[in-house]
Amino acid sequence: MHRRELLDRFGGRKRCLVTGGAGFLGSHLCERLLAMGNDVLCVDNFFTGNRANISHLLQNPHFEVMRHDITFPIYVEVDEIYNLACPASPVHYQHDPVQTAKVSVHGAINMLGLAKRTGAKILQASTSEVYGDPTVHPQTEDYRGNVNPIGPRACYDEGKRCAETLFFDYHRQHDLRIRVMRIFNTYGPRMHPADGRVVSNFIVQALQGEPITIYGDGSQTRSFCYVDDLIEGMIRLMNAPDEVTGPINLGNPVETRVLELAEKIRDYLGSSSPIVFEPLPVDDPIQRCPDITRARTMLEWEPRVSLEEGLRRTVDYFAERLTAPAPAAVKVGAGKV
Ligand code: NAD
Ligand code: UDP
Ligand code: UDP
Repeated sequence: MHRRELLDRFGGRKRCLVTGGAGFLGSHLCERLLAMGNDVLCVDNFFTGNRANISHLLQNPHFEVMRHDITFPIYVEVDEIYNLACPASPVHYQHDPVQTAKVSVHGAINMLGLAKRTGAKILQASTSEVYGDPTVHPQTEDYRGNVNPIGPRACYDEGKRCAETLFFDYHRQHDLRIRVMRIFNTYGPRMHPADGRVVSNFIVQALQGEPITIYGDGSQTRSFCYVDDLIEGMIRLMNAPDEVTGPINLGNPVETRVLELAEKIRDYLGSSSPIVFEPLPVDDPIQRCPDITRARTMLEWEPRVSLEEGLRRTVDYFAERLTAPAPAAVKVGAGKV
């Protein structure tokens, strides 16, 4: 009997490949897959990932780490592939835009080739950025987006859009079992304190008594999902029936203005940080909120952790981490990573 049939029929320890496994989301996913009784191979080139994110897993005999850049081919035997490798914060993905496009596109081709050869199921970490600066609100999966193909965010947005195209073409042409999730802004412990994303920036600034930097007037919105909720949705999607290919939005449908987020964090910490206003980066989306009807009906999933609770847990993480020397918050366009 084929290994896939054996696993489907009798269950057993699956060999899961997590690309980008030493990153923020990837490290939580590795942890969860190990806790579920799987073997986990974490493949990462440590561009934005961090050994400290996975150091607590290294003693686990079912966990293995490989330093590798997925824009190059890789030959391993696996049952499931979670393709998360790609810098996610605007500061990081705009630092080397050509590499961002390469990891999104060449990386996806290599992972799809690997899935084709091994018969593995493969999940793509896509993004709400495929909707660009959306003109439909909240965003449903049917909305085709409003992306500037030549702007500074395009390396990421268009790279991820092309990866989705490849996933669906490999599915149609080679019968691959695919899952495509569109992740909306997710936050939590193990975000890099210097990655420039809004939640980490605001918390680091408030903890250090530095000015809280709002880009634009702070009226732009985002919807913030706590990492544990997101990982639960990701696992449910991978384990859903094969007809559930996605794309499927995963995120928290509670929409928050950026100014409101700053005030929430400052008030919670009782911080004396002033709020300062700086120019809005080019092509910064004005509003973003997922319609999660598909995830609710197909995966019976919805977020459970409130923004207040999630921020509390994230603040605890940063408060502990910042007692050790760490880089300061970074701004979009600020240069080197
Ligand atoms: P992250 O930057 O913390 O993690 C990305 C990981 O990929 C890092 O460990 C990095 O070293 C690794 N990586 C980058 N290029 C690589 C390459 N060429 N080969 C191997 N490894 C490579 O970001 P994250 O927030 O954990 O995001 C993970 C995935 O989820 C990304 O694909 C991102 O686009 C997607 N996503 C995240 C969010 C979010 O809010 N966190 C939102 C939408 C989509
Ligand atoms: N690939 C890989 N690991 C594998 C199989 C394929 O990294 O186990 C890569 C390889 O670089 C290949 C790409 O995936 O170019 C796409 O594979 P596919 O079989 O679709 O195309 P081809 O081999 O014809 O280029
Ligand atoms: N932002 C901000 N101050 C910061 C960092 C980000 O006002 O210090 C804004 C940013 O302009 C955007 C929103 O917060 O409107 C979310 O930014 P982030 O980089 O976290 O993610 P994005 O959703 O833009 O990819």
